Amino acid sequence: MTEYVRGLDISHWQGRIDWQRVKDAGYVFAYIKASEALGTDSMFRTNSLGARNAGVLWGAYHFLRPGNTQAQVNHFLSLAQGADLPPALDVETTDNFVGQAEAWLQEVEARSTAPIIYTRRSFWDSWLNPNMPQSRNLSSRYRLWVANYEREVPLLPRNWNAWLFWQYTDKGRVLGINSNVDLNYFSGPAEQLFNINYKPVPPVVEPVPTSTLGFDAPIGTFDERRSLQLWPGDWIDAWHPRSGYAQKYTDSAGHTSYHTGADLNKNKPVWDSDRGSPVYAASDGIVRFAGRIGNYWRNVITIEHHLGNSIVITRYAHVDNMLVSAEQSVTRGQQIATVGHSGPNGPYHLHFDVSLTTALLFNPGHWPGSNLAGVREHYVDPIEWIRAHRPTV
Ligand SMILES: [Zn+2]
Repeated sequence: MTEYVRGLDISHWQGRIDWQRVKDAGYVFAYIKASEALGTDSMFRTNSLGARNAGVLWGAYHFLRPGNTQAQVNHFLSLAQGADLPPALDVETTDNFVGQAEAWLQEVEARSTAPIIYTRRSFWDSWLNPNMPQSRNLSSRYRLWVANYEREVPLLPRNWNAWLFWQYTDKGRVLGINSNVDLNYFSGPAEQLFNINYKPVPPVVEPVPTSTLGFDAPIGTFDERRSLQLWPGDWIDAWHPRSGYAQKYTDSAGHTSYHTGADLNKNKPVWDSDRGSPVYAASDGIVRFAGRIGNYWRNVITIEHHLGNSIVITRYAHVDNMLVSAEQSVTRGQQIATVGHSGPNGPYHLHFDVSLTTALLFNPGHWPGSNLAGVREHYVDPIEWIRAHRPTV
């Protein structure tokens, strides 16, 4: 049998991996799960850094889910920057998959390099009539990563006549990995693996900087924001002297709700002193949404921050004069808007909350309302969050 170049593909299911032992065992490349829908694989950053540090060539793959194709591309490309191998698309769900897969592939190709398609014959041939033009379009345009286990040569989906990568088992055992792992071959000689390299074009989507700077309050003067007082200066939270997080109240639409964060007001020296005050990014990150959501939220900005492998989303609502737009990077303390008011004639204040889930990426107007468990699942007390993550400089 031909001696192919050996590699593997992994996700968080493999747990923590000793990449140096994987490298020493002769594995040259790894495809690493980066994203599924708009979520990030919990071990992606650990794995991609580990592979890079051990000298294992790596590529990122995306698990396509129905809907939000553009947002899925944006999210994936923000993670795949710096990869060595072409992006890969894992298509295993059948909902509208031809049209959506085509759209994802074309968009990623336009913005980085031609992706490869991960699939298996039984799936592809049963969901794509091989006589359909789409099947020939996809197979002539994109190279194949085929899954077919325990065979001398893999069975190819129709309309492909060659494979680039072959996942030949899902029950591999490799030193440095404490569970079964998918093993793969690369079809060409090793030198070619370096030549099929992912060729990053200047990124359209900037990677989210990993913040080491910590978080400040989003309002107050520079000195107030750097102080240890929360909330800073004369700012208060409308629903509680200290923190209105998870407090029961009546929202600006007149419904009973548990508050997700803080409603920041400044009524000294005069009432509505907060009106038009600057609103600042609480930490370094990428703006994911900046736009209007109805007449109660009015203008909303969400910013994605990364702390190690954790995603943190901060939201700034009811703002005016937005100074940023989606996919723009911002730094801690950068002004992003001014304080506006909620509802058609609601009071001036900044609604500010902090989420450790991706709920706000899917829906910047996310609001659990009277569901207290939903508030606790998706949001943390912003005072406690900021206090625990103060800047070191
Ligand atoms: Zn609020």
